[in-house]
Amino acid sequence: MQFIVKPLERAGKEGIILSSGDGATRRCFPILAAYVGDYPEQTLVGLTKKGECPICPAPRNEIGNRESILEPRDTDKVIEALNSIDKGAAEFTKACASAGIKPVQCVFWKNLPFVDIYRSITPDILHQLYQGLLKHLISWVRAVCGDAEIDARCRRFPPNHNIRLFMNGISHLSRVTGTEHDQISRFLLALVTDIRLPGGQSNARLVRTVRAVLDFIYLARYPIHTSETLAQMDDALQAFHDNRDIFISLGVRTHFNIPKLHNIGHYLELIELFGTADNFNTEYTERLHIDMAKEAYASTNFKDEFPQMTLWLGRKERMMQHQKYIRRRLETSLNTPLHVQKPLPSLIPERRQRMTKHPTHRAVPLNDIHNKYGATHFVPALSRFIAQYQNPEYSKAQVETASHSIHIPFNKLSVFHRIKFVSYDVYALNPLDEVVVDSIHVNPVHLDKYRKVVPARFDTAIINVAPDNNSGVQGASRQVFMIFKSQLSFLIGLGVGQIRCIFTLPSMAVGLWFPGGFPHQHLAYVEWFTPLSRAPVDRNTKLFKVSRLVTQGERRVSIIPVSLIRSSVHLFPKFGPQVPTSWSSSTVLEYATSFYVNALSDRFLYSTIY
Ligand SMILES: [Zn+2]
Repeated sequence: MQFIVKPLERAGKEGIILSSGDGATRRCFPILAAYVGDYPEQTLVGLTKKGECPICPAPRNEIGNRESILEPRDTDKVIEALNSIDKGAAEFTKACASAGIKPVQCVFWKNLPFVDIYRSITPDILHQLYQGLLKHLISWVRAVCGDAEIDARCRRFPPNHNIRLFMNGISHLSRVTGTEHDQISRFLLALVTDIRLPGGQSNARLVRTVRAVLDFIYLARYPIHTSETLAQMDDALQAFHDNRDIFISLGVRTHFNIPKLHNIGHYLELIELFGTADNFNTEYTERLHIDMAKEAYASTNFKDEFPQMTLWLGRKERMMQHQKYIRRRLETSLNTPLHVQKPLPSLIPERRQRMTKHPTHRAVPLNDIHNKYGATHFVPALSRFIAQYQNPEYSKAQVETASHSIHIPFNKLSVFHRIKFVSYDVYALNPLDEVVVDSIHVNPVHLDKYRKVVPARFDTAIINVAPDNNSGVQGASRQVFMIFKSQLSFLIGLGVGQIRCIFTLPSMAVGLWFPGGFPHQHLAYVEWFTPLSRAPVDRNTKLFKVSRLVTQGERRVSIIPVSLIRSSVHLFPKFGPQVPTSWSSSTVLEYATSFYVNALSDRFLYSTIY
C-alpha cells in the first residue's frame, strides 16, 4: 500500500494535471479522502482493535447504544504516537496505547498530505447492512419465531417478479450471500407479521423492529437524499433502538454491543460528508468483477490471458465512449444539451412497458378465457368497456344499459402471457442496454416441456386509476382515465388488481366498434382489490391492508388498457398466528381473504408507495 500511494504524497501537495470527462484538463490535488473496505479492513487501516469502532473511540461495552456515537478519533494525535517509534519500542508501545491504537510500525497513510483517516472511513451497505445488521436480525427472528413456522410461510408466498420463492424455506441456508440477504429482506416482514411469540408476548415490538431495520436499509440505499429522507433514516434508527429489547425479553440476546450495529449510527453524518452510501458500496466493485474480469477472461483463448484481457477491456471501453459520443451528438441535435441542469432525476431510472410483438397464443376460445384464465365475467366486462369507450359522457347506469346491446362478433382472441417493464442498469458496463426490472405473469395451468403440470399464475399489479396530481398519472393515462371515469370511480389513487387475461381485439372488431380509431393495442381483464387510498395502514408493519372487492357475491372486475398498469405488486396473505397448511404459493391468492401490500418487495415500489 505504501508503494501504491507513494505518488499521492507529491501530487497532493503540488498537484497534477488531470483531464475530466468533458475533455478539459485541470490541476488537481488528489488526497486520500475515502477508504472503502469491510470491517476487518477498516479496523486494520484505523489501527483499532477487533470489537471497536474504526471511526470513533466508543467504549466497547456500550458500543451498541444509540448514544455511543462519538466524534472521530484524532488523526494528528495518532500520527504523533506512530512517530514516537524513534524513541524506542517501550515508548512507542506506551504512546500507541494511550492514543487507543495498536502499535503498528508501517502505516501506509501516515505521510500522505491532509490525511484524516478516521474521517475517511465510508459506509458499507453490503457488509454492514446486509451481511451485518440484517444477518443478525434474521438469526434473532428465526430464534424467536421458530424455523418451522418461518419455513412454512416462505413456501406460501404468491409468486412475483421481485420475490425469490424459497420453497425449502430459509433455515437450511448456510453461508447466506449478500444477494440472498437482499432477497430475504423483501419478505422478512411477512415472516413476522401476526406471528405467535413464546409466552403469549405481543409481537408489536418485533414487527416494529423488523420494519425499522428494513426502512433503514432501504433508505440507506437511496441514490439521492434530502433532509427529509435523512430524517426518515434517523427515525428508523430510533425505532430500531426503541423496540429491539424484545429480543432481550424473549431471551435471544443479552446485549447489542456489536460493532456493525454501532457503525450504522454513523451513517447520517457519513452521507452528509461523502454523499449517498451507494457510492461506496463494495457490492459494485464486487459486481464489476463479472464485467471486467470474468467476461474479459471468457473472451480469451485461456493462454497468456492477461494481454488479451486488457486489450478486450480497452476495446470495450472505446466502444462505450464512442456510443456515448453518438448519444451526445443525438441529444445535441435534439436540442437537449447535456449541460443544461435538468430537474432532479427520479429515484430510480424510468421504467417502460414492453409487450412482445406476437401474442403467446392466437385464437384462444372465449370459453377458455372464461374457464382456464378465470376471467369469468369477460363478455359483460368487455361490453361495458366498449359502451363506455364509445360514450365517454355516459354514467355508470347508462353504460350498463348500453352494454347489453353490444354484440361480440368473435369467439377467439389472441392473448399474451407477460408484461415486461424495462429500464437501464446505470451501473452496467454498457449503461444503454435495457434490462427487465419487473414483469407480470398471466399464465393458466399448463404442462412444461417435461409434461409436468405448472400451476396457474395470475400476478397482481399496481394500476394507475385516478388522475389526481399526486399519483403521477400524466398524459395518455390521464386521457384514458377520463374516458373510464364513471367505470373506475370507485377507485381513487392507485388501484391493486389481479390480472387474469391480457389480449388484443381483432382488427375487424376494432373497425366495427371504434371507426374513429382505437389506440389501445393491449387490454387486460382485472379483478380488483381495495384501492390504496381506501386501504387501512397497519400500525406495526406500516403496510396497506387490502382484500378483494366483491359486489353481490361476485368479484369486481374491469377491462382496462394495459398502459394503465404501472408495476407488479407482491401481496402476502394475513397468515394469522400460524400459517394454514392448506395454502400453497399458487393458491394463496384464491384462499386467503386479507392481504398486506408488500411495499418492500422492490426498491422502486418502496420509494413510490411507502
Ligand atoms: Zn463510532
